[in-house]
Amino acid sequence: MRRHAASAQFRAASDQGLGSLELPAFSGDTGSEARNELDSYRAALNRHAIVGITDRAGTITEVNDLFCEISQYSRVELIGRKHSILNSGMHERQFFWTLWRTISSGETWHGDICNRAKDGSLYWVDTTIVPRHDPAGKITGYVSIRYDITQRKQVESALLEENRKRQSAENLLRDVIEALPNGVAAFDANDRLILFNSAYRELYPRAAAVIAEGASLRSILRHALEQGQFADVAADPSVREAWLAARLKEHLGPSRPIIQHLSGDRWVQVQERRSASGHVVGVGTDITELKRAERRIKEQSEIDPLTGLYNRRVIGDRLARALKADHGFALLLLDLDSFKLVNDTLGHDAGDDLLIKVGARLRGTVRRTDVIARLGGDEFALILRNIEVEADARRMAEKLLRALAVPVRIGGRNVVPSGSIGIALYPRDGTTPTELMKHADLALYQAKAQGRRTFALYRPEMRSSVERLAGVTQALRVAIARDRIDVALQPQVDLRSGRHVGFEALARWERGTTRVPPSEMIAAAEEAGLIVQLGYHLIDKALAAHRDLLDEGLEPGRLGLNVAAAQLREPGFARRLLAMAKRRRLRPGWLEIEVTENVVLDRSGEAIATTLRELDAAGVSIALDDFGTGYASLSHLKRFPVHRLKIDRSFIRNVATDCDDAIIARAIASLAHSLGMEVVAEGVETEEQYRFVASHGCDFAQGYLISMPMFLPEARAYLVGRGDGAIVAAKPAGPAQPPAAAAA
Ligand code: C2E
Ligand code: CA
Ligand code: CA
Repeated sequence: MRRHAASAQFRAASDQGLGSLELPAFSGDTGSEARNELDSYRAALNRHAIVGITDRAGTITEVNDLFCEISQYSRVELIGRKHSILNSGMHERQFFWTLWRTISSGETWHGDICNRAKDGSLYWVDTTIVPRHDPAGKITGYVSIRYDITQRKQVESALLEENRKRQSAENLLRDVIEALPNGVAAFDANDRLILFNSAYRELYPRAAAVIAEGASLRSILRHALEQGQFADVAADPSVREAWLAARLKEHLGPSRPIIQHLSGDRWVQVQERRSASGHVVGVGTDITELKRAERRIKEQSEIDPLTGLYNRRVIGDRLARALKADHGFALLLLDLDSFKLVNDTLGHDAGDDLLIKVGARLRGTVRRTDVIARLGGDEFALILRNIEVEADARRMAEKLLRALAVPVRIGGRNVVPSGSIGIALYPRDGTTPTELMKHADLALYQAKAQGRRTFALYRPEMRSSVERLAGVTQALRVAIARDRIDVALQPQVDLRSGRHVGFEALARWERGTTRVPPSEMIAAAEEAGLIVQLGYHLIDKALAAHRDLLDEGLEPGRLGLNVAAAQLREPGFARRLLAMAKRRRLRPGWLEIEVTENVVLDRSGEAIATTLRELDAAGVSIALDDFGTGYASLSHLKRFPVHRLKIDRSFIRNVATDCDDAIIARAIASLAHSLGMEVVAEGVETEEQYRFVASHGCDFAQGYLISMPMFLPEARAYLVGRGDGAIVAAKPAGPAQPPAAAAA
């Protein structure tokens, strides 16, 4: 614009013949031809260039028309003024300083200058300043030749501005993505990385070396794979390639979040979006904390908070998993013996403590890969892997029972934990979780019925026996009413003399062709509230049998009566028992009450103790049954008038082979003696056991070796046959002499 206006004015001025600037003549001798040539240059220069001349102090001495035109000053206004009249204030001091230094030293200066016109507007000129010299070489002034570059400058500055804006937008973008906690990476249509932040690099530290602008996604991923960045991708090259292909395909496809499990147990969620222009922007978020919390929640929902073992919910799932593997395994259900008593007598904290310790023992006994769960209460389930044959399952069950039986301090008391185990084997005993659980449970039931501290393997016959038991309670009522329940007598002998000393009365109920195990019957009676009634019925049967033997002129000795806690809690029990004995003309001194040690720990301990003292005062002796399986301590027993301890047959079973059991049996015997009690060894089945108990401080023995429990006629024959049953026929036997051997 300015240039056009300037040219128009210039043309007008030169037409009037005023526009030409008389440039100073070049020094030296020039001919007329040369002069003409010079004149044409001068004319051309005048037409296109802004020319000004100053003296050495910068005072304007001459300007051409273009000078006036662009500066809007008239020649008159300019001549005699300092050139600085045109200063725009747009340049630093330094700028003019350099300029002046250059020209005053005789050099030509060239550069762009911004000047200010008379109306205050700015214009840019490409400027060359040439010093003029006098013949002596002294600077006399300066010639400046300028070209209007205002328009170019405007374009340039517009471009610059635009650039600056773009740059700052880009910087802003970088600042923004850098400030994001997420990893951000943008790829162009060819999957080359064009923009990313440091969080992106930090997400994949093992690939950091190759994360750079221009790198392809494929190369980044491959490097990351080689460096083991992805925790869930196997090192196998073919697996890696397949993974890589799938990942790149995902990169192409519609966006859906990808979850990556990285080395160092970190988790990243990646969300990618492809724009219309083909760019892919991926945002990676570290979700490690989330994943860990998720895992914790899942674990917590699977863990029994008390023992730290798995809980009931897990076992079905783990069974289903184990079924998928084609190895055999064993499912063991373990139930603690007399756990309820620990809770009732030592308190719930003690009960919890016991469960924790038992849990730790189980965990410490099996392999790490085996599964242990607490199903609730005192019930545990174990899945033991790679068990193919029954013998392995047996060995493990024995190992677990042994581990359990180490005495432990609970609630300030030494307790010997024990449990019953039921075992079902896969695939032999079932092929579904439900079936295996049901069968292991039947086996457990069987183990409990067999007595404590033992295990049982599932057998198909168990099914029918349990189905039969469903109606046991109902049948029991009928059986009591019809007097179908009897007692059998099992003899006991003195281990020093070998002589018969008494019988224990054991309940017998033949239902059809099968016998209901007494422990089951007692349990059913307790549940049905029939125990007191059944108890008196059994006592009366036993007393009657005893009377009968006496009436035959035989000496049956002491009569052991098993009495359940519920019976002892019954008020007036002692009086009623004594009355019943009196009716049969039996002296209380012939009677012995057998109570389990758990009875003395019963909640209504005081009432029971009173009953026992009453009986004791009347001359009835008291035996502690199944000793060693419960939680009573000997010192605790001092509160009760106990005359005899019956060492549980589970100890006797192994006395000859198991060192621990031998030690326990011997310790019980010597402690009992120091408390003034006698000791009965139960369940003596072999001569070896007999000799052992005889030589290790036991006073009496009972068991199949001596005799099975017998109904009255056989018991009578037994006494007659032995000969020592009758007082008159007593004959001493050598110490520790097994009776079977003596009889042979
Ligand atoms: P218990 O009082 O410990 O009775 C001893 C059990 O051991 C009896 O089982 C007996 O048959 C068995 N036994 C005896 N000698 C041997 C042996 O050498 N080897 C083996 N393996 N076992 C032997 P039974 O008759 O099945 O009685 C089981 C339990 O039922 C009894 O254990 C007792 O706790 C309870 N019980 C039995 N009769 C009565 C009763 O009349 N009243 C009450 N309250 N409980 C009874
Ligand atoms: Ca007994
Ligand atoms: Ca017993």
